[in-house]
Amino acid sequence: MLTLTDVTVRFGDRTAVDGVSLAVAEHETVCVLGPSGSGKSTLLRAIAGLQTTDAGRISLAGRDLAGVPVHRRGVGLMFQDHQLFPQRDVAGNVGFGPRMHGVPREEAAARTAELLGLVGLPGAGRRAVATLSGGEQQRVALARALAPRPELLMLDEPLGQLDRSLRERLVVELRRLFRDLGTTVLAVTHDQGEAFALADRVVVMDAGRIAQTGTPVEVWQRPASAFVARFLGFTN
Ligand code: ATP
Ligand code: MG
Repeated sequence: MLTLTDVTVRFGDRTAVDGVSLAVAEHETVCVLGPSGSGKSTLLRAIAGLQTTDAGRISLAGRDLAGVPVHRRGVGLMFQDHQLFPQRDVAGNVGFGPRMHGVPREEAAARTAELLGLVGLPGAGRRAVATLSGGEQQRVALARALAPRPELLMLDEPLGQLDRSLRERLVVELRRLFRDLGTTVLAVTHDQGEAFALADRVVVMDAGRIAQTGTPVEVWQRPASAFVARFLGFTN
């Protein structure tokens, strides 16, 4: 579905993403796990077309994405800092993508209501986004990313600002939703509990490079390096 080959992104003499090769299968949920500054957001931005790459190839469903503009990539991205449209209300944010893609108004409204219920904000459609708490904005951003039903959904720290009980509930509901919709998901987090609960496969990043790829059980039981073991919290 998604194939990255030796993707590299440099900022001056700093290499943020360093020769990353990765394949995500159709319907698979992959979580990229790694410390702050390891290149997770930069990787997602490169796949979305918001960040130019210095080397490597990115293809989605057999199509090379080089030169394909952001809105034609079939990729949905939920930003780490939400980036909601401040001048639109909650429903206007969530319904924007489907309307852009030609979904009829009534169907977009139904999808919006369903997604707002899913993220625990039923009836919040007419609220101004500026009046929402950080965690509520995060949930609206999640609903907005899901609404156009992209081929590939990318989530950057989707549950980072939520309390534990809400996070645990949403992880279960998201897994069910991704399975029902058949969505392929690439999510980024520095929270290993979230990654292990959400992912079919985990990718651990260290300073722009992939340190290990495996199922949650494989990574947990057999960390591939001292870095991975330390990051998972195993001492010695
Ligand atoms: P976090 O968990 O804190 O969100 P991250 O893994 O998402 O971290 P990135 O945001 O991808 O990390 O950043 C990777 C590296 O690239 C960092 O050292 C960062 O300072 C640098 N970087 C990111 N964007 C830019 C930019 N536009 N200009 C210069 N350096 C950048
Ligand atoms: Mg980040």
